[in-house]
Amino acid sequence: MDVFRTIADLRTWRRAQTGDVGLVPTMGYLHEGHRSLVRAAHTSDDRTVVSIFVNPTQFAPGEDLARYPRDEARDLALLDAERVDAVFAPNAGEIYPDGYCTYVDVGRLTARLEGASRPAHFRGVTTVVLKLLHIVQPRRVYFGQKDAQQLAVVRTLVRDLDVDVEVVGRPIVREADGLALSSRNVYLCGDDRAAALVLSRSLALAAELFDAGERDAGVLRARMRSLIAAEPRAEIDYISVADAETLDELEVVAAPALVSLAVRIGGTRLIDNTVLTP
Ligand code: AMP
Repeated sequence: MDVFRTIADLRTWRRAQTGDVGLVPTMGYLHEGHRSLVRAAHTSDDRTVVSIFVNPTQFAPGEDLARYPRDEARDLALLDAERVDAVFAPNAGEIYPDGYCTYVDVGRLTARLEGASRPAHFRGVTTVVLKLLHIVQPRRVYFGQKDAQQLAVVRTLVRDLDVDVEVVGRPIVREADGLALSSRNVYLCGDDRAAALVLSRSLALAAELFDAGERDAGVLRARMRSLIAAEPRAEIDYISVADAETLDELEVVAAPALVSLAVRIGGTRLIDNTVLTP
C-alpha cells in the first residue's frame, strides 16, 4: 500500500493506473462504517484510494478540530489489511497553502439541518471534496448515508459542476445495539454511551409509527422529541422529517422522507437518520 503526503506524488501514482479508481474520503480514526465504503469500492473499482484528512475548513471556531480523534498508524494498518492500494494523507498546508482563497458553495440544500447549526460546514466539505476529486480523478467516490445531507450536497455539487464521477451512497453501519458508528463515539464516556441510544431509538419509533400508518410529519417529530426529552443527558439540536431529495420539511409523508436528527449527549454532538419510503 502506498501512502502519499503530497498532491504531486499522488498524481504521479494516479497517471500510472489503468482501470477504474475508487475514492473513499475520510477524516481518519477509521471504523466499520469506513471499512464498508472501502469494501464497496473494492467490488466496483480496480484500484481503491482512501484519503485521510481532518479538513479544517469544515470546522467552525469552537468545534472539535483540535481534539478530533486521530490515530494514523492504526488507520494505515486497517487499510493495509483491507488491501487498499493508496492512501492520500496530506497535511493542511498541502491542501490550503498560504494565499489559498477559493471556496465552493452549494446553495439551497446547505442552509438547513446541519448547515443551519454549522453555517460554514458544507462550504468546507464541498471545497475539499472537489479538490480531492480533481487530485485523485476517481471513476467512483463513496460516501456513507450516515451523513445523509452531505451525500445530497455532494450529489448536487457533482451534478451542477459537471464532475465526471459516480457518487455512490452506502448504508449506515451500526453497533449491535443500534448506535450508528462514528469516530466521535470515542467522546462518549460513562453513562453517555447508553444515553446516546436515544438517537437510534427515536428513529426506530418513527419507523414503527410510519409502518403502522402514521403519515403526519408533525406527529413523527413530536413523538421523537418526547422520547428524547425523557433522557436527561440529551439536548436536541434538531429533529427533521424532510423530503429525501430537496430536504424541505414535510407536513405529510407522501414520498421518501429523510428523518434526521442532531442531539448533544453530554458535550458530544451526534447525528443519525433513516429514510421512510411510502
Ligand atoms: P468521516 O471520517 O466521519 O468524515 O466519514 C467518512 C465517510 O464515512 C463519510 O462518507 C461518512 O458518511 C462515512 N461514514 C461514517 N460513519 C459511517 C457509518 N456508521 N456507516 C456508514 N458510513 C459511515
